[in-house]
Amino acid sequence: MSRAGGAGGPAREPGAPRESPGHRAGATADGPGGPGGLGGLGGLGGRAAAEGAPPAAVLFDRDDTLIVDVPYNGDPERVRLMPGARAAVRLLRARGIPVGVVSNQSGIGRGLLTEAEVREVNARVDALLGGPLDVWVHCPHVPEDGCACRKPAPGLVLEAARRLGVPADRCVVVGDIGADMGAARAAGARGVLVPTTRTLPAEVASAPAVCRDLLGAVRHVLGRPSAVRRPV
Ligand SMILES: [Mg+2]
Ligand SMILES: [Zn+2]
Repeated sequence: MSRAGGAGGPAREPGAPRESPGHRAGATADGPGGPGGLGGLGGLGGRAAAEGAPPAAVLFDRDDTLIVDVPYNGDPERVRLMPGARAAVRLLRARGIPVGVVSNQSGIGRGLLTEAEVREVNARVDALLGGPLDVWVHCPHVPEDGCACRKPAPGLVLEAARRLGVPADRCVVVGDIGADMGAARAAGARGVLVPTTRTLPAEVASAPAVCRDLLGAVRHVLGRPSAVRRPV
């Protein structure tokens, strides 16, 4: 599953643990109409963060979505945010929408990374984003384990939603590859792809929505008009 272009190795596999305080657990009211505002749509219990309805939470993939992918990185000093990451998270926080990370970290299962290293990297991401995100969940397994959490399986999304106390089908998953979109779909969540140069054309073509950067993706899920269905 190594992708072309990876700096020598399976380049897709971000993620990491870290329990954050969840200071914002449960969507916070953000104006009339409940979580996120956009009044009038409250009480639709269920059926996904449909167009127009604000999400109950936004779950980002980590590597090549929130931060630049450095395969199997265990060094916090090498963490670099992706374009728009800070602004995207800031906007969600301003709207009272919980923000989490769902990340495959098979480097752990491969013996190339430790849980502690992953946590250190995640802590650096939190710091660069101005404070702890609301939930971090990662899969430490290798594909051969056949676990229920490695994306595109739904386990990470379901667990993040559970910890946040929100329905998975009201969450949005933002990621850079097809496995992220697959996990969203399998969990009943809405997927938004933010491709990089390493994203496969087929993954772009099959994505439910495509935005050019993280801020665009967040604006899109908040119902703002800056999103395109197909990439640029
Ligand atoms: Mg990724
Ligand atoms: Zn797993």
